[in-house]
Amino acid sequence: MELRKDPITRSWVMTGDDSPESSGQTSAACPFCADSAHVIAVAPNTPGAPWSARAVVHPTPLYRIEGDPGRRGDGIYDRMHSVGAHEVLVENPHHDRHLWNASDEEIGHFLRLAAERILDLKRDPRIKYISLFKDYGKNAGQEFGHPTSQLTATMFVPRRVLYELRAGREYFLSKERCVFCDIIQQEERQALRVIEARGDYIAIGPYAPRVPYETWILPRYHESSFERARQNRTGLYLNLGALLRRTLQRVRSITEDFHLVLHTSPSSLHPSKSLGYWKTIDDDYHWHIEILPVVGSKAKSYTFKEVYYSPVTSETAVKHLREARIEG
Ligand SMILES: [Zn+2]
Ligand SMILES: [Zn+2]
Ligand SMILES: [Zn+2]
Repeated sequence: MELRKDPITRSWVMTGDDSPESSGQTSAACPFCADSAHVIAVAPNTPGAPWSARAVVHPTPLYRIEGDPGRRGDGIYDRMHSVGAHEVLVENPHHDRHLWNASDEEIGHFLRLAAERILDLKRDPRIKYISLFKDYGKNAGQEFGHPTSQLTATMFVPRRVLYELRAGREYFLSKERCVFCDIIQQEERQALRVIEARGDYIAIGPYAPRVPYETWILPRYHESSFERARQNRTGLYLNLGALLRRTLQRVRSITEDFHLVLHTSPSSLHPSKSLGYWKTIDDDYHWHIEILPVVGSKAKSYTFKEVYYSPVTSETAVKHLREARIEG
């Protein structure tokens, strides 16, 4: 596998002819229930449990921490080896306790562990961006049976985040305001696409969804970095955990399968050439979680001549999600 840069969009892709290794979960025993030899970090214990959430090395990593990226040019093209980190975040020691049925405290431990891993990986000056994501359900490419999320640390900023960062900077340059803060303000005022507001957090359906029932969770106060938020507010991850749990219950009333991704600020240790060197990133970016449900019956094609096509508006989607029966 190698990384190649698209010279037009300046985004990196991973490509190679080697077939992706299977994760080896063919045996009956769950590798994450058992004691793992490759534990990187552990969240504090929940009473009565041996551990609450922990990070382990991915059994078949896409990125490896050893080696040199060997970035090189080939005419107008750019390529490098996939150097970085790839971890599995085990959300809960229990095989059947997910982000939608665990306690707020357990989800809080997981979110705190995620923040600590991001902070730790950002200390490596080679790393530009850390992605936290979860794919759940067979139509979403779920990899493990155990409740897990994954984390990759890369020497480039992924395309979607790059677009958001550039757009956030442009908006800030002309208005001197954060575009995400402006969106939250208008959504709260109009109340058409707000699913739920809870403490410092809000869940909304985006005005222009890419897929039906797309949902975003954002802090209502301005903060560019998810992992730094840990230090700023108390009880942060409990509130966020509760909103995440309730929102996933709503989404699951529509479909089991979903992708979830955290978007946070890139590493400031390593200013990126493709983003330029700018000082306003703490003012113009705003961390958030995106949930992209996979709605089976409508999965045929969400793009129509390269334009995203969602057969459900966010106004209708939010109405269904708000009315969904949820517990707790
Ligand atoms: Zn398990
Ligand atoms: Zn903001
Ligand atoms: Zn985003």
